[in-house]
Amino acid sequence: MSEKRFGSIEAGGTKFVCAVGNEQFEILEISIFPTEAPKKTMKQVEEFFSQYPVDALSIGTFGPVDIDHTSLTYGEILASPKKAWQGFNFIQSVKEWFSDPVFLTTDVNSSAYGEYVMGSAKMVDSCVYVTVGTGIGAGVIQNNQFVGGTTHLEIGHGLVHRHEEDLAFAGVCPYHGGSCFEGVAAGPSIEKRTGISGEELPKDHPVWKIEAYYLAQLAYDLRVNFAPAKIIFGGGVINEQLMEKVREQFEAINAGYVTVPELNGFIVASTFEDNASATIGNFALAKKILMESKKA
Ligand code: ZN
Repeated sequence: MSEKRFGSIEAGGTKFVCAVGNEQFEILEISIFPTEAPKKTMKQVEEFFSQYPVDALSIGTFGPVDIDHTSLTYGEILASPKKAWQGFNFIQSVKEWFSDPVFLTTDVNSSAYGEYVMGSAKMVDSCVYVTVGTGIGAGVIQNNQFVGGTTHLEIGHGLVHRHEEDLAFAGVCPYHGGSCFEGVAAGPSIEKRTGISGEELPKDHPVWKIEAYYLAQLAYDLRVNFAPAKIIFGGGVINEQLMEKVREQFEAINAGYVTVPELNGFIVASTFEDNASATIGNFALAKKILMESKKA
């Protein structure tokens, strides 16, 4: 029996990453191209996988998206700020040229799964992956299942308590201004305050203290709501100095209330390079759907 190949489509707001992996989830082929109109971008996806065939595919996409596999609109992009993609159905589009099993979830769920199978959460049964980049989102896993009742979670749009030195900032969320985490702590909020991107902002800039205050609140909310074994941060804004500040602020907010593992191992930055956790997660999810399809 020949070795299986698994495909990953990571559909981000600015770029698509298509990759092929083997049964050890090693990346064999990878292609990165900008996110344009659905027709053009999906043509590039199709061309990639016709060149490098796979046995099953998993898609991790920006949202909001219908991830309920029993729904008639499974795979459809909902009220996304990316207008050209609203109403676009990923599953149907891929099924036009791919007849093997396809799985779809959010990009952060794919990343969480990558951390769960091969990353920081490999040795534990629960974790949360939080991305802090263009937006803020989180995927929660418990006992090999994604958490979310009717659809995916929207933790980035949860309400935030503002830092006293940041009250004048209006925020950047089109829906909630400066009232939600995404509005005050996503990459664009850092750039709006300072004129410099989160990746390039000097590590001693005072905005990092404010950023850490918000991410510590988010980590605290995740702890009290889901009690995960690990909280893993990834995305363009995250760096180790910031994580250090987040742990300090977490400790101050918690004030000794809930028990947590040792903080250096509880609140961590992703160890995957180039945010590869979503790609690895998709390989594992493609393998899972392939095995399930054989049982059915
Ligand atoms: Zn919001």
